[in-house]
Amino acid sequence: HMQTLEKIDYVFKVVVIGDSAVGKTQLLGRFTKDEFCIDSKSTIGVEFQTRTLTIKNKVIKAQIWDTAGQERYRAVTSAYYRGALGAMLVYDVTKRQTFDHVARWVDELRAHADTSIVIMLVGNKADLVDLRTIPTEDAIEFAEEQELFFSETSALNGDNVEKAFFRLLEEIHGVVS
Ligand code: GDP
Repeated sequence: HMQTLEKIDYVFKVVVIGDSAVGKTQLLGRFTKDEFCIDSKSTIGVEFQTRTLTIKNKVIKAQIWDTAGQERYRAVTSAYYRGALGAMLVYDVTKRQTFDHVARWVDELRAHADTSIVIMLVGNKADLVDLRTIPTEDAIEFAEEQELFFSETSALNGDNVEKAFFRLLEEIHGVVS
């Protein structure tokens, strides 16, 4: 690829947030490298990964930030949110608690991030159909109330991952252009 020679029109910072173990790191890996790592250990030290893509004839470098496990100690700092134009707020469709905490994450975003931040609510692990506890309709209802975009994904088989990130980046593009 000649990507390094391309002119970059925009850099979009996107943060991935949500409870521990919902699949944030795997979603990021799926989107930036198209891989799923079976024995993923908690990410330490890696702050972000990038992928360059084209939206409406503009070359966009998506800089996707991972919490690096800080969410476990509720220690995600305002530096993490600084300059973020988008957020992927992830819960696990098989774990009620991770969905119940989504409202708290929205509050955190409203407190620390820019008011124009585009938020995509993501119900991950949709491949675990027999273990699902959060009906799609419940999440749609919450997303509509809070004015969030919504998608269900599987980082494991890749379903909707590309689509969710592209949708978010397109919406950000609409905000900045
Ligand atoms: P994080 O703590 O939110 O970054 O979560 P990880 O990305 O480390 O994933 C936590 C666990 O869930 C790991 O064991 C992953 O293999 C698993 N996992 C992540 N995404 C999926 C998915 O879409 N489907 C299934 N079945 N498992 C997943």
